[in-house]
Amino acid sequence: MTTTVIKNADWVIAWDEGVSRQVYRRGVDIAFTDDRIDFVGRDYAGPADRVIDGQDRLVLPGLVDIHSHPEHEPLYRGVREEHGLRNMHMTGLYERSQAFSITDDAARAASAEFAYCELLLSGVTSLVDISPAWDGWIDLFAKSGLRGFLAPGYASARWRLDNDFELKFAWDEARGREGFAAALALIDRATRHPCGRLSGIVSPMQIDTCTADLLRDSRDAAHERGLPLTVHVSQSVAEVHEMLRRHGKTPVQWADEIGILGPGTILGHALFLDSHSWIRWWTRCDLARIADTGSSVAHCPTPFARYGQIMENFGDYLRAGVTMGLGTDTTPHNLVEEIRKAAILARIAARDIETVTTADLFHAATAGGATTLLRDDLGRIAPGKKADLVLVDLTVPQMMPARDPLRSFIYHAADRAVRDVFVDGRQIVAAGKVMSLDQAEAGRRLADAQRRMLETAPRRDYRGRSAEQISPLSLPLSD
Ligand SMILES: [Zn+2]
Repeated sequence: MTTTVIKNADWVIAWDEGVSRQVYRRGVDIAFTDDRIDFVGRDYAGPADRVIDGQDRLVLPGLVDIHSHPEHEPLYRGVREEHGLRNMHMTGLYERSQAFSITDDAARAASAEFAYCELLLSGVTSLVDISPAWDGWIDLFAKSGLRGFLAPGYASARWRLDNDFELKFAWDEARGREGFAAALALIDRATRHPCGRLSGIVSPMQIDTCTADLLRDSRDAAHERGLPLTVHVSQSVAEVHEMLRRHGKTPVQWADEIGILGPGTILGHALFLDSHSWIRWWTRCDLARIADTGSSVAHCPTPFARYGQIMENFGDYLRAGVTMGLGTDTTPHNLVEEIRKAAILARIAARDIETVTTADLFHAATAGGATTLLRDDLGRIAPGKKADLVLVDLTVPQMMPARDPLRSFIYHAADRAVRDVFVDGRQIVAAGKVMSLDQAEAGRRLADAQRRMLETAPRRDYRGRSAEQISPLSLPLSD
């Protein structure tokens, strides 16, 4: 047993169980033994193997990221920030999945290692990683030191484009079933991993690429294991139109009809609801269906904002009673920047500065996200909770003056102020450096992998274009 004490922390964001919310505390000690917090308060007098000076520190609960794709998103840096199709309501999702695709595990390993470092450096300690199963994933995740919710994706169909305006589907249910079986085997293997930090999420990839049978069986497998289920829902206008064409129902209503909504079901994005101004469907009941069934939403503002799309609006989801969490669907894997963006975009969408507060968004990035994962021992600093902690340096210029250090952190400093990170009581980031992985070396492999990916684009693209034609550089290259 090893006990660590953070002594006299200047500021702490602690969990107040009585009112179920995060609160500031000042000048308190936090003690944790192995993986559990055992004391939060003044004048800790118990044993201590290591004492950390809490002066000039803000101690946060480790952030909970409930939606990410680390095995490919970093490969799109410099490629996809401005890539979308006007004829597909701006989304570039489908063209990307066809033209810019990853096929080798070396690329996946480089991409994931790079992303895990970014996540740790921005204070994420719990991560939902939605990726196709690949060799080496469990070992790399265990090595990273992160708390992992591995979500191996599978589907009955693949998206296919022959032009830039029609979304088509290549169905292969046998392949979906194979992927489902492999996903469950991987989840069970991860859960048994001796590090004790890994778990799983059952993850049929998209509401429009999975059959009702596969989705229902996925739900049953999740329930049997006591695990959450996550699926991308209402992430594009094309998807909503496709589901209306197939079923006469929006994606959310169809998900409800086939019985996959409920506590433990996390809807990836749920942005284009029937009430959204780009949909304006007459039913106007999607939000209530999500709330009434106890389902939750993983909100990831960045990829949509880059397309010119926006959730309308985060505050309405909260007031409807939906449990909201945040994710980093794309690169950069910086959950603090997602908090900031989510707050600002919600206010723009609502034209109301009071629609959400910083506290609402921080809750979503910590305890709210943990609730969606059916885990009340994460995202909270209180005795008995997991020792997942982030120490923020109040002396970095972007934190100063630290009158309200959470605002300094979210709206100004972000990852620049993250100094030390503990997961399960073990220090993974020290003095702003990830100790478990090598980001610089992963970055070199990532650049090679991106080159390979871009070279194969003409073979994959429906018009045989080069990567430069699909996504030109932001400025012309002059002699
Ligand atoms: Zn996603």
